Amino acid sequence: MCQSHGISVTGVTKGVCGQPEVAKAMLRGGVSSLADSRMENIHRLQAAGIHTRYMLLRLPPLSEVEEVVGTIDVSVNSEIAVAEALSQAACRRGMVHDVMLMVELGDLREGIPPDQLLPFVRAAMQLSGIRIQGIGTNLACFGGVVPSTDNMARLVELATAVEELVGYRLEWISGMNSSGLDLLVAGETPMRINHARIGEAILLGRETVHRRPWPGTFQDAFLLHAEILELKKKPSLPVGTRSEDAFGELPEYQDRGEMIRALLNVGREDVVIEGMTPLDSQVTIVGASSGYLVVDVTRTDTAYGVGDELIFSLNYAALLRVSTSEYVKKRPFQAGVRSSDA
Ligand SMILES: *Cc1c(COP(=O)(O)O)cnc(C)c1O
Repeated sequence: MCQSHGISVTGVTKGVCGQPEVAKAMLRGGVSSLADSRMENIHRLQAAGIHTRYMLLRLPPLSEVEEVVGTIDVSVNSEIAVAEALSQAACRRGMVHDVMLMVELGDLREGIPPDQLLPFVRAAMQLSGIRIQGIGTNLACFGGVVPSTDNMARLVELATAVEELVGYRLEWISGMNSSGLDLLVAGETPMRINHARIGEAILLGRETVHRRPWPGTFQDAFLLHAEILELKKKPSLPVGTRSEDAFGELPEYQDRGEMIRALLNVGREDVVIEGMTPLDSQVTIVGASSGYLVVDVTRTDTAYGVGDELIFSLNYAALLRVSTSEYVKKRPFQAGVRSSDA
């Protein structure tokens, strides 16, 4: 879809910590390059022998410019001191490092304020080890600001001003992440926006403004299986004088009489509980500690037993934490051969 609008897509793998099978699937699906916010994840992909152009999506640390220049093709930038250090590191290696300048357009995470962009570009043009390859903006991540015709037009206007200054056409005018897809299908993305960095829409099949399923995609490409360790009838209200739980919170529980509670072998250390949905809709999540998830299986048609697995779909936050937890085993499966033993 992006291609038909003249937009090349960089697949963002940070949601799965740069899992090589997922990156390969993205490349088979038509992305032109890969990006991640962590260098460790990019190194994992490179070590797996995946050859493509790699973009570092998080601002490079001043302390790691050598490594960035040595292993990354394009990095996003917003600090001239870092650009200078990248340039020096690149010069020492006899190479030129590509940078995408991030512009702040309201979401208030990374980015150069628009009125400081041209002075930044002027300073960066003096640096022989870097090349301004594109400009971009990131929205809907921190401040929840949605892409609009206005902020996209502003990006194009700024890109044009940068092009006049540098004297060449920028390769990428990067306006979008998953939150920009609605604007794109509405035909309201300016023509000159030609690059998107997409993670969640590919991984979980959702645009990220309303989190609606995207037509023609799967929402269950990632499933978390957890095993029942204990299954017992217990009251629904804790018994005794109560103070804070293990996380310093005082959770409220409703009195629903006795219930059949299953304890599963995942916890807050492995997954964001609020981002899990049981595939069995008769199962409800009661709460969790670091290592246990407690679910109510009182009214399920399936008679679960100790050792059985419950399966959950995940939102982005949950997927990210699952990917990061070394306690959760990751098993890739082929489309169509997903079964209980996959
Ligand atoms: C994470 C990230 C993306 C991808 O965002 P999705 O909402 O997952 O598509 C794009 N750009 C930057 C700078 C990011 O940090």
